[in-house]
Amino acid sequence: MRFSATFRFNAESWTVLLPMLPFKLVYSDAYYLPIGNHVFPAEKYGRVRDRLLASGVADAADFLEPQPATDQDILLVHKPEYVQKLKTGTLTPREEMELEVPFSPELVKAFWLAAGGSILAARQSLTDKVCISIGGGFHHAFPDHGEGFCMIHDVAVAIRRLQRDDKIRTAMTVDCDVHQGNGTAAIFAGTRTESVPLPSVSSSTLDRARPSKMRGAHAGDVFTISLHQHNNYPLYKPPSSIDVDLPDGTGDDDYLAWLDNALSSGLRQFEPDLLCYVAGADPYREDQLGGLSLTIEGLKKRDELVFRVARARDIPVMVTYAGGYARNVEDTVTIHCNTVVAAKEVLAAKG
Ligand SMILES: [Zn+2]
Repeated sequence: MRFSATFRFNAESWTVLLPMLPFKLVYSDAYYLPIGNHVFPAEKYGRVRDRLLASGVADAADFLEPQPATDQDILLVHKPEYVQKLKTGTLTPREEMELEVPFSPELVKAFWLAAGGSILAARQSLTDKVCISIGGGFHHAFPDHGEGFCMIHDVAVAIRRLQRDDKIRTAMTVDCDVHQGNGTAAIFAGTRTESVPLPSVSSSTLDRARPSKMRGAHAGDVFTISLHQHNNYPLYKPPSSIDVDLPDGTGDDDYLAWLDNALSSGLRQFEPDLLCYVAGADPYREDQLGGLSLTIEGLKKRDELVFRVARARDIPVMVTYAGGYARNVEDTVTIHCNTVVAAKEVLAAKG
């Protein structure tokens, strides 16, 4: 019973408070992206934190405050020319347009902080087995440019920083945002070595899901998995180690079967020291920028599956939140809070 040592008492009322989470949450009020009225609900980070506290899922002692990444950290992934443009506010109009969020020096700071948060989450996950950053997951950022609301690839920066510190050798990204992780695929493509054939897919559930396709490439020190809607941004999808191209309208059962298959296949081919889970909320059926049909319950099962599979193999998991554009922002907040609940339940389960 792992909670027994972490019950706390409120000294004034002597009422028993909820047990601490068996892992940390990384959060800062400065995660907020100053992008004005935008389809990306930048207020979601603060709302997730408030909901976790109000519902008793977490309490204040469960949170860690991140520091911004250093320029050296950012340069482990991004080109010096691009970093220079960001720091001097000299992106071209076309580059600003591709970013799809209004450029400002404050926005640059928020992305440096998101990268610092992911570094902290990755490091902390090596100790606690799970760590969730209530932010990050900017998987459309490339070494030399940003796009799709993503300026800096915080997850890639975290992986490269931990590798540089000799904390990890290898990592696997599991990207469940509805949009393909094109930046992730491009950044880690250069580290590929040999190719391993994918197993055949035989389940009848999966047969029904066609024309889904699972495309396999090869992996070097970072193995990339992306499950996404095929008919969606980005138009050009550079190959991940495993890409699962899902048809419009894919629902819970088919999605979970594909995820299970991709994880099994990936972990047969590759043994990561760290799993970076990009837990986008946008495969939700009410999402404004997504065309899949997952329910809130299905998305929680998705999270549980990732945590269960990693736990069975004793692989640390760091989590970032990526997208989420539900018509009702409260649904996005619920989906992100459920990721914390799922991790808590899986870690508390016996076995
Ligand atoms: Zn997305």
